[in-house]
Amino acid sequence: MAELKYLDDVSTLQLDTGGCIGCGMCVAVCPHAVFTLAEGKAAINDHNRCMECGACANNCPVGVITVKAGVGCASAIIYGWLTGKEPRCDCGDSDGGCC
Ligand code: SF4
Ligand code: SF4
Repeated sequence: MAELKYLDDVSTLQLDTGGCIGCGMCVAVCPHAVFTLAEGKAAINDHNRCMECGACANNCPVGVITVKAGVGCASAIIYGWLTGKEPRCDCGDSDGGCC
């Protein structure tokens, strides 16, 4: 599963396990298998696999997951996948720079 690794120690993903109701939605929607579910609570299996897509936070019914989706290089990489072009996230200046 090493191919699912993103970048070390850059993800903004946070989970408040105290409020988790164990519904499993985060496990179901995460494309990088970041979450596991054990004994009725979600846990972050590998923080560095998170690419900040935001699906987990958007689907958690009790709002105990936070992540700054669509920022930084994750957005650029998704753009590259979808368009077949060079990754870019429009965060740079007007001359086309990125990050
Ligand atoms: S933001 Fe996306 S990749 Fe990161 S944990 Fe949530 S669903 Fe998984
Ligand atoms: S989606 Fe939210 S409530 Fe459901 S298991 Fe994940 S963290 Fe817990």
